[in-house]
Amino acid sequence: MASITLNNLVKKYGDGFPAVNDISIDIADGEFIILVGPSGCGKSTLLRMIVGLEDITDGDLLINGERVNEKAPRDRNLAMVFQNYALYPHLTVYENIAFPLRLAKGKHSEDEVNRLVTDAASTLELTEHLQRKPANLSGGQRQRVAMGRAIVRQADAFLFDEPLSNLDAKLRGQMRSEISQMQRRLGITSVYVTHDQTEAMTLGDRVAVLKKGELQQIASPRELYEQP
Ligand code: ADP
Ligand code: ADP
Repeated sequence: MASITLNNLVKKYGDGFPAVNDISIDIADGEFIILVGPSGCGKSTLLRMIVGLEDITDGDLLINGERVNEKAPRDRNLAMVFQNYALYPHLTVYENIAFPLRLAKGKHSEDEVNRLVTDAASTLELTEHLQRKPANLSGGQRQRVAMGRAIVRQADAFLFDEPLSNLDAKLRGQMRSEISQMQRRLGITSVYVTHDQTEAMTLGDRVAVLKKGELQQIASPRELYEQP
């Protein structure tokens, strides 16, 4: 579990206009926050700065109050949750979820792997599907497998980068509600990037609206909806 604090974050690529310009947001432990705005407004850059894939030009990034600007991605204990393309088609659901534990060589006994995968599958209602391959799952189930991977790693927070953008409208609606339900059940701090207004207004506790690298406003969906 983690709080994530963005203090006056700036990202400049070369000498161009800042891609992220002085953004400050306090993300509470367990909060589900949406970053929304048109293409090029800096959403992905901000997410990549949080996860550690992009250097911070200026400002401070804190996780649970600790400054992590220089920490490598693997030491931040955050999990990017990718959509189905990140699952291994030849592996079962069980082995897909176990994958991060297998990578951490020598750290986990087979019993421990089994316990962690079984627990995550139970939380995500995937127990009956553990021996299936990703091709035989629904879109929502695949998304849950991707979340399962993050759970077994015991990540402090989930980061979603437009996970639904390549799906048709029907599937998008279904997955939207799955993600929302799961996030609430798990209570894991989540940052979710989208350019889709419906996702922004239905998924999160708060919506941060970005424009040209700046934070235009941040409010609950209700507050945004009710404003003139
Ligand atoms: P969004 O995710 O909202 O579409 P991005 O964070 O991808 O926006 O991009 C924000 C701005 O930074 C854009 O103007 C984009 O062209 C620029 N940008 C993103 N990545 C790079 C990069 N690696 N090098 C140079 N400019 C970049
Ligand atoms: P997004 O959907 O996030 O806007 P883009 O198509 O803008 O994606 O960017 C795809 C990739 O290209 C990203 O890794 C981004 O960092 C990089 N990128 C974006 N804009 C530029 C740029 N002006 N120069 C170099 N790389 C860029």
